Amino acid sequence: MIRVENLWKKFGRFDALRGLGFHVPEGSAFALIGANGAGKTTTIKILMNILEPTRGSATLLGVDSRKISPRELRQIGYVSENQDMPSRLTVEEYVAYLRPFYPTWDRDLEASIALQLRLPLERKIGDLSHGMRLKMALMCALPFRPKLLILDEPFSGLDPLVRDEFMEGLLEQAGEMTILVSSHELGEIDGVATHVAFLDEGQLLFQESMSELTGRFREVHVTLEIEAARPAQMPKEWLEMRAIGRVLTFVDTRFDENGLNERIRSRIGGVRGIDAQPMVLRSIFTTLARAARDGRT
Ligand code: ATP
Repeated sequence: MIRVENLWKKFGRFDALRGLGFHVPEGSAFALIGANGAGKTTTIKILMNILEPTRGSATLLGVDSRKISPRELRQIGYVSENQDMPSRLTVEEYVAYLRPFYPTWDRDLEASIALQLRLPLERKIGDLSHGMRLKMALMCALPFRPKLLILDEPFSGLDPLVRDEFMEGLLEQAGEMTILVSSHELGEIDGVATHVAFLDEGQLLFQESMSELTGRFREVHVTLEIEAARPAQMPKEWLEMRAIGRVLTFVDTRFDENGLNERIRSRIGGVRGIDAQPMVLRSIFTTLARAARDGRT
């Protein structure tokens, strides 16, 4: 659905994107995660042909981003906090203006989304709060049942209640859509994304399906008979090894239920007990980001 290859973007002498590459499978909910300034918005603006890449390419629905036409745009929903909307029109007037551009616009769906998001149709766009504006952008992006929905930091500045309403509105309509969502908050995409890519200073640190990612990570505690010392030789998939008293702790990034005991006992003597716990997404990301910065992934 989206293919980004060796993408570079220069602003003056500054490289905002440095050879970025990732691939969004059809039907996925793909999260682009990265700290402030990592290059998420720049990537999305290139996808939407708001910016031109300096080098490399971005393809959506099989078309180069530089060549997307109204035909493709009718199949792409775009929601961003810095989206231009006419502040003097009411919500209702703006939606009426948009409808004719989309042959697939479904008015029943529009009505149900407006109801669900509790949008004040008669209010002027300029008078809407930040959260309402984002919800309104979502309402403009969904009724034509886009094949691809691109959301640039849709949750920033939303209070938890509004965020949940927004998510409910979105997920109820998800169906056959492919979703690309950018965020710097890991918690926001937990339970939503099927795939994740991690961006750091304009480069991709990793991309993976969520189930693979959570499946292969375990925090392992090895209890020893005597005071533990950090082993000199470790497999490179064991990260963040620490020795506290008689317990060795590390993160196994290639967890295999059947093989773990043997792998540990063949390397470490005097093992009393082994405990491997699943990790929350936030800890997985922290581990990976640290490892990537240390050049270990
Ligand atoms: P945030 O989470 O803060 O929105 P982001 O990951 O979306 O960050 P971008 O907005 O893509 O990051 O910015 C990436 C880098 O490019 C930043 O260092 C930013 O300052 C720089 N940048 C973005 N747009 C421009 C511009 N028009 N001119 C100069 N530098 C820019």
